[in-house]
Parts: sequence; C-alpha cells; structure tokens
Amino acid sequence: MKILAVSDQVVERIYALISSGQFHDVDLLLGCGDLPYSYLENIVSLLNVPLYYVPGNHDPEYDERWSQSRAEGCINVDLRLTAFKGLLIGGFGGSVKYRPDGVNQYTQAEANLRAWRMLPGLLWNRIRYGRALDVLISHSPPFGIHDDDTKAHQGLHALNWLLRVARPRYHFHGHTHFYRQNLSPSVTRFGSTEIMNIYPYKMIEI
Ligand SMILES: [Zn+2]
Repeated sequence: MKILAVSDQVVERIYALISSGQFHDVDLLLGCGDLPYSYLENIVSLLNVPLYYVPGNHDPEYDERWSQSRAEGCINVDLRLTAFKGLLIGGFGGSVKYRPDGVNQYTQAEANLRAWRMLPGLLWNRIRYGRALDVLISHSPPFGIHDDDTKAHQGLHALNWLLRVARPRYHFHGHTHFYRQNLSPSVTRFGSTEIMNIYPYKMIEI
C-alpha cells in the first residue's frame, strides 16, 4: 500500500507532481495537521482516494455546525479508530498547550485523558483483529522524540503511552520538524514502531 502523508506546510509543487503522475498509485492520504483545509480538499479531489487527518494547533476547533472547521471530503480521525483495506488507523490531534486560549492544545494531563478515551476501541481492535493499531497519526510528536524543549514544541507523554499500549507499526506526526530540520533524524524506532516526522510530505510504502 502506498501512502502520501502531508503536514504543516503547503507545498505548491505537490500539484505539479500530482499532474505529472508522480502519485498516481497512491492508495491512501494522511494529514498530520496545521494545513489549510483547502489544501487537503484539493489533494483529495485530485487523487480521489480517502484522506484521513487530525487537526493541529493552528487549525480551527471542530464544530459540526461550521463547515470551515473541517476538510470537506476528508475524514477527521481525532480520537477515532478506523480501518482502510485492512489497515487499522488511529488519530490524535492537537499539541501541547502553550497559550491559555489555544485551540487544539492540551496540557499533558488533558492529553492523557484524551488518549485513555481511545482504550476501549484499541482493546476492541485487539479482540477483533489480533492487534490494536497499524498506523497512528498525530499532530504532536511523542515526548522526547522529534520534539524540542521550547514550550510550544514539547511532545505529548500521551503519545508515548499510546505507542506502548497500541504498538502500531507506524506513527506519523508533524508540528516540529521545521525547527529541527538539520538537528534530528526524521525517523526513529520506538519498540516495534517506526516514528516518522511527515513535514512537509512523505511517500511511504507499507
Ligand atoms: Zn503545530
């Protein structure tokens, strides 16, 4: 299965790459947050395959009455689990809280509570499929991995916990890479999980 994942920064060149057939065999699109929803909508309409995404800390708060709070034709998987062609996908939106009025921002404790809400679904997956999760997409990185000690770019402990509990094969995230592009690797192994920073886009074959 070929996956095109996007995060954090609009890459105008992606439209030319799509037109030239570069991504013609992509099966699935993933969005790791902090992108204008029009960008996700354009990509999904050009490639015509499902796009699952989570919101980032620069995205609007989801409100079902307000169409601008979601990407039309795409599927918001924040705190949700879904399956696509046998691939178990889970999502965890937002970042650590660094502004009192910040949208899609959570203290470490709030993020932990959010992660625990995924537990019943993960247990159900384990019973039904023999494994809890294949791919976790989040906006934030886990704590201590691809993160940074500035207030806004600290990773979430909740994600480390989710990785330990759900043991997905892959974890794709965004949020931090532009600050550390030359300082840290964008792929890190954590137990049985390959953690990948998607900024600004990555093609992954799994
Ligand atoms: Zn962010």
